[in-house]
Amino acid sequence: MKRALNFNAGPAALPLSVLEEAQRNWLNFNGTGMGVMELSHRSREYEEVHEGAKTLLRRLLGVPDDYEVLFLQGGASLQFTMLPMNLLAEGKTGYYALTGSWAEKAMKEAAKIGKTASAASSKEDTYRYIPELSGLADLKDAAYLHLTSNNTIYGTQWQDFPETNVPLAADMSSDIMSREIDVSKFDIIYAGAQKNLGPSGVTVVILKKSLLSGPRGDLPVMLDYFTHSKSQSLYNTPPTLAIYMLMLVLEWVEKEGGLAAIAERNKQKAELIYSSIDDSEGFYQGHSRKDSRSQMNITFNLHTEEAAGQFLHAAKEAGFVGLNGHRSIGGCRASIYNAVPLEHAEKLAEFMRKFKNNN
Ligand SMILES: *Cc1c(COP(=O)(O)O)cnc(C)c1O
Repeated sequence: MKRALNFNAGPAALPLSVLEEAQRNWLNFNGTGMGVMELSHRSREYEEVHEGAKTLLRRLLGVPDDYEVLFLQGGASLQFTMLPMNLLAEGKTGYYALTGSWAEKAMKEAAKIGKTASAASSKEDTYRYIPELSGLADLKDAAYLHLTSNNTIYGTQWQDFPETNVPLAADMSSDIMSREIDVSKFDIIYAGAQKNLGPSGVTVVILKKSLLSGPRGDLPVMLDYFTHSKSQSLYNTPPTLAIYMLMLVLEWVEKEGGLAAIAERNKQKAELIYSSIDDSEGFYQGHSRKDSRSQMNITFNLHTEEAAGQFLHAAKEAGFVGLNGHRSIGGCRASIYNAVPLEHAEKLAEFMRKFKNNN
């Protein structure tokens, strides 16, 4: 069987060995005579999966002991609401670094819950860069400062995170587990799984335990972080199959050498494709400014819409999947999350060079 050259933005490619392992266990997980998704979520067998995924995630990301790891549902999009519901107190302001469509959506939802303000924005330049955050010391009324570590649609990424006393909140949906991070710099991190962690259906939330003082009677029970923390993310039925797949992906990350090795390979993959853009004498034009480039989503265009259309058509003929840019900016986008093999990035870089030479 031939695997697709999959550059989808999300849901995205998963490691072949993970899919094969899931397939081997599909009908009979660990000798139970049942598939994982047929097990009770209260069974010992499932508990091993649930806790196994948590332990691996903690180890790989270096999550400190005073942080909780939650497995929730509703995607990163529900966190746009849940985070301010839990953390944006009356009289405080939720500050947002506006770096793209997801950041805008996050702020828009928070504004329905409480007071919000923009801390910085690069919208005036179609989100080509990560803006400087100045005046952080003056955000005295801040409940938190929210940022989007990687901007999936525009193809930009925070290269380092701001030094600030303001509690940091981050949507890391499209670059979690792609590089080493210092979790202790953040009060809360969240990510939908379907880009770097597994299939869709589970959302990872990592938050400081000190944020959880007790049950919040004023919130719907399912939208209170305390509920899920107190019950080890088993208050209601969790997405057991998605969490099992997450565990397999994390085992794969560890086998590959952990985050340092994964980050090194991601860098190589990104360099291959960016050099096809940079060496093309303007044939391909990268969307993001060089100092803000994403190693996960590479966005570029050709000199006309028509040329971009021809490129995408030829790429499709050659077996490349998912290279269309997001509908909001058009052009092309290559998403090269952890599970996209180096060889696929090489093939794309080479295809881009050939296409340029023939046109
Ligand atoms: C994909 C994505 C989302 C949306 O995730 P859902 O799980 O579909 O809600 C939010 N933020 C970022 C940065 C994303 O890449």
